[in-house]
Amino acid sequence: MFEGLSGKLTAVFDRLRGRGALSEEDVSAALREVRVALLEADVALPVARDLINKVRERAVGQEVIRSVAPGQQVVKIVNDALVEALGGAGAPTGIDLNAPAPVAILMVGLQGSGKTTSSGKIALRLKNRDRKKVLLASLDVHRPAAQQQLATLANQTGVTSLPIIPFQTPLEIAARALDTAKRELYDVVILDTAGRLAIDEALMAEVAEVKRFATPHETLLVVDAMTGQDAVNTAREFHEKVGVTGIVMTRVDGDARGGAALSMRAVTGAPIKLLGAGEKLDALEDFHPERIAGRILG
Ligand code: GDP
Repeated sequence: MFEGLSGKLTAVFDRLRGRGALSEEDVSAALREVRVALLEADVALPVARDLINKVRERAVGQEVIRSVAPGQQVVKIVNDALVEALGGAGAPTGIDLNAPAPVAILMVGLQGSGKTTSSGKIALRLKNRDRKKVLLASLDVHRPAAQQQLATLANQTGVTSLPIIPFQTPLEIAARALDTAKRELYDVVILDTAGRLAIDEALMAEVAEVKRFATPHETLLVVDAMTGQDAVNTAREFHEKVGVTGIVMTRVDGDARGGAALSMRAVTGAPIKLLGAGEKLDALEDFHPERIAGRILG
């Protein structure tokens, strides 16, 4: 099974210790192991390659070669490069509410990614922690139970959900939600869009249309960390066709190694803002690059 990357690295470099100067080839050989480990952790190949090049530049140019603990020093270089690629230490996390009320948040993603659950989690956090008045609205007219599912979630969290009116289109529901939010002085309105099992043109067109109409301050893409490379392809598609301001990565409570976060960040340039860490509505965490880097390093 997978052996921790940092352990592997330390072993490889420490083996070379005492052999005098490390050559560039020694470093390259060790970095091949890093590449394999990154791929095993679901990091996309081009992203892994970029990262390795960065680490190589720093490792070869530095005192790693003469260091008494070259392994540890390389682990630190890899760790720093990972943190940087994930947005940098202390990168802003959580939702940006810095806009005139009502602030609209559009939730997008594939069906089953955890979009509706995340909408409920975010609503609960904004209500309890930030003392915001939040309105939840489901624009999913394709799955009959979807609007009811969100209403039930809203009930559990004590957040208001937009009353369901059958046979309205997503745009009509969005208009009603925005209008209600303005009239009744809500701080935040969360619009949960429909998902599909796989990306299709109709889904993208619908989501893009809703986005143009609602001009949300945040467009959050919800992706399942367990889907690895597929998560990266999903992120690319949504970013190209709809445009996203941030990513919510769900199911980090599973054993996914977190490499998808790195790839999604690289592909979209959008920050990972929140992590879903369980089915319960309070299982929502801020994203800390250091933690995911640690998880990838193992
Ligand atoms: P949607 O189709 O994207 O709206 O997905 P749902 O919100 O309905 O979630 C699908 C399933 O995933 C539900 O059973 C959720 O309880 C579960 N789920 C959502 N987020 C998480 C998470 O962070 N961790 C775990 N373990 N399960 C989650």
